[in-house]
Amino acid sequence: MSAGAMDFLPFTRPLIDEATIAGVVEVLRSGWITTGPEARRFEDALAARCDGRAVRVFNSGTAALEIGLQIAGVGPGDEVITTPLSWVGTANVVLARGARPVFVDIDPVTRNIDPAAIEAALTDATRVLMPVHLAGLPADLDAIYGMSARRGLRVLEDAAQAFGSRWHGRPIGSFGDLVAFSFHANKNLTTSEGGALVLPDPALAPLTEKLRLQGVVRSGEDGMEVDVLGGKSNITDIAARIGLGQLPQLDGFTARRRALAARYFEEWPDAPGCELPPRDPGGNSNWHMFQVVLPERIERAAFMRGMKEAGIGIGVHYPAMHLFSLYRALGYREGMFPHAERIGRRIVTLPLFPAMHDADVSRVCASARCVLESLS
Ligand SMILES: *Cc1c(COP(=O)(O)O)cnc(C)c1O
Repeated sequence: MSAGAMDFLPFTRPLIDEATIAGVVEVLRSGWITTGPEARRFEDALAARCDGRAVRVFNSGTAALEIGLQIAGVGPGDEVITTPLSWVGTANVVLARGARPVFVDIDPVTRNIDPAAIEAALTDATRVLMPVHLAGLPADLDAIYGMSARRGLRVLEDAAQAFGSRWHGRPIGSFGDLVAFSFHANKNLTTSEGGALVLPDPALAPLTEKLRLQGVVRSGEDGMEVDVLGGKSNITDIAARIGLGQLPQLDGFTARRRALAARYFEEWPDAPGCELPPRDPGGNSNWHMFQVVLPERIERAAFMRGMKEAGIGIGVHYPAMHLFSLYRALGYREGMFPHAERIGRRIVTLPLFPAMHDADVSRVCASARCVLESLS
């Protein structure tokens, strides 16, 4: 290989092809760059991937989650059960609605919310179950939807990382209650920034549209009415055009990610105490991330420094969020969720993105072997 072989390898990088770039240029020249025809086309294309269910798009996954909570009627006094091992946006939107995020521990193997722990945390105030499909591996949706049906609860899937993932062969988003996706730059499908909400009933679309743009409803040539407080979370046509360019490539991206993950399983050093992700024999995951939990004896920051010196970027997704000051102020403390705390302290995200070469995986594994040995 060329000298480029030793270029810095980030943990992820978006792949935008020339046809998509040309499409964005067309939008820029069209005279209409905010929400318009491209956004509607993107919604239709997303709906087609979600078994025809109604989908509305936003300028972030966070907006999709918060509007999902509004549609579920969540407000002050309500509880939303979720996992502490996620991006902090998952719980921040619950606080933003004036409700209480109720964290429960994870399953240490899947690293997703533990359904038995959800069951134990249900109260009369529980309104919504909010599983997160961490790294693209779906949470146990059979158990979660079973519980929601028995208890009359809503489900809002934080599927920010799970576009292209499956459950019993069905695409995430093609079934269930409310499902929120993110199209942030690091996600498997990107619009640079953006998100989408799949609705369980198309009759909810008008309310969703009001909530994303100041509550405004237009009628006739000049009519305007506002009867609900909406925010400002509409997507631009520039962003939507990126998503439209990405969509036809998604299955190829997922297949490539799956192949790279398989290579990691083959080549990752047999370091004692390192915990690999589940192998996902059912092919459910979109392999948004390949994450390893380091052994106790290895200091994570030293591992990351060593890998950086070898030209390899390592991510941390995520520290357990109940230990942030904002959440400690609600009464959360160390020791409450031991699996999430332990994994949150030791988890690392290895490079994985569709443009990566097989040789990059070999390089990551060889460097990791050296760094782990030097630190042991
Ligand atoms: C990315 C992400 C979000 C937020 O999405 P944005 O588009 O960045 O607002 C929420 N939850 C999880 C699990 C995420 O990974």
